[in-house]
Amino acid sequence: MIRLKKNVELPSIWPTGFETPLSEEERAIQGTVHRFARDVLRPLGRELDRMTPEDVIAPGSPYWTAMFEAAKLGLDPQLIAQFPPEMGVRIESIIGEELGWGDAGLACSIGVAGAPLMMAQSVGNQELIDMCMGKIGCWASTQPDRGSDAVTFYREEIIAHGKQPVGNITAKVGADEIVINGQYSSWVSNGSVAQVALAYMAADYGDGFYRSGENGTQTNGIALIVPLDLPGISRGKPLDKIGQRALPQGEIFFDNVKVPKRFAIALNDEFLGNLASMWSHAGVGMCQAFTGAARAAFELALAYCHERKQGGGFLIEHQMTQLRVGEMLRRLEMARAVARRSLAFARMSPQTHPYASAQAKVSVTEEAMKIVHEAFQLFGGNGTTREYPIEKIFRDIRSALIEDGENYILTARLGGLASQLYQNGWTKE
Ligand SMILES: Cc1cc2nc3c(=O)[nH]c(=O)nc-3n(C[C@H](O)[C@H](O)[C@H](O)COP(=O)(O)OP(=O)(O)OC[C@H]3O[C@@H](n4cnc5c(N)ncnc54)[C@H](O)[C@@H]3O)c2cc1C
Repeated sequence: MIRLKKNVELPSIWPTGFETPLSEEERAIQGTVHRFARDVLRPLGRELDRMTPEDVIAPGSPYWTAMFEAAKLGLDPQLIAQFPPEMGVRIESIIGEELGWGDAGLACSIGVAGAPLMMAQSVGNQELIDMCMGKIGCWASTQPDRGSDAVTFYREEIIAHGKQPVGNITAKVGADEIVINGQYSSWVSNGSVAQVALAYMAADYGDGFYRSGENGTQTNGIALIVPLDLPGISRGKPLDKIGQRALPQGEIFFDNVKVPKRFAIALNDEFLGNLASMWSHAGVGMCQAFTGAARAAFELALAYCHERKQGGGFLIEHQMTQLRVGEMLRRLEMARAVARRSLAFARMSPQTHPYASAQAKVSVTEEAMKIVHEAFQLFGGNGTTREYPIEKIFRDIRSALIEDGENYILTARLGGLASQLYQNGWTKE
């Protein structure tokens, strides 16, 4: 049936756009996280953006205030788990979007800080849960020589010599102990501040780094939780980069680091599955955060168009500006829809896949980039100055096109996945 209206009134609108009505609980959570994003993350994020990477992580830095205040909010998986799945997805999405709206770098730092704890909870290991509780975590996977290569799941994706490179960090797995040597890349988010790492690396279980499987030569691997105060662990200089400067990143070095084998969360047989699960989780988190960052850019541009006069009136009065604002809002709605759908798939589908999450991360960040690009342009010369906040959001979003997997690579992986699904019968009926 058509829902008939007597008059044309303005549509229902929420901070997160054209939503069906939010429940009281959803509204309360949205309000709390929005206030936190507005009053804490956004001002502290701007402050941190202008500091050196060393000062960002120094004692007394606003970074620690942001992390401390975030911890007080109690935005953990237990909160989401109380709700029915569909509602949980919407709440998780709104939380992620609000945090990204406040500051994309801090949103990523807060998100990844809980990764080791969440993994410990997922495998149900109480010792590891206790070890990770209340700590800042990181997800260590990429290495200087293994960037895009660290996110491959099928042999066909490595074509040069038909096998995965071992990489720069390796584990020797003994009966009771694992010995780790090498380093992670300087890109590890929270790498320079984390107290505990969810770490993925190539592993030798006694007969080398490679094994023959039905899919050809495969690298042996291990995933484990590592307390980062063990003897032999050191850090590189915190990374100086253009975007998400509030997010501390840096190398982690391992020199004969001995870790009890019971800290492993996935040995060889479960390694790729575990990595895939973690990566699916991270990709959908990125989607919500960068929808929020794009929304921040849109809102700033919308306000500016109502303040700046050119051509005899406010910018917004010109039809061309309305087209540009409409384009931004359309893209924002599209990004949010993709972000939510991918989150629902990751949380509720019986069989998730990292490339299904990754395609959404590509779409959201590409749309976010287009939105912030247009917002920047609408600010004219002012957009290029550090006095206005839009240039920071531009830099923050630009980094997201590479973060959590470079977008071309992820899209190519999606094409490969489509081929596998086709060969498995998909679309043939
Ligand atoms: C803000 C940010 C946060 C990050 N956080 C983390 C984190 O928390 N933990 C972590 O482990 N890592 C993290 N990373 C690392 C990130 O996952 C990698 O940067 C990303 O996977 C790309 O790897 P790379 O930088 O080594 O680029 P490369 O893999 O060297 O790619 C460089 C270029 O080569 C192209 N290319 C690569 N492989 C191929 C190929 N086979 N065929 C054709 N072209 C190819 C790519 O498309 C790209 O344009 C982060 C990165 C950023 C920017």
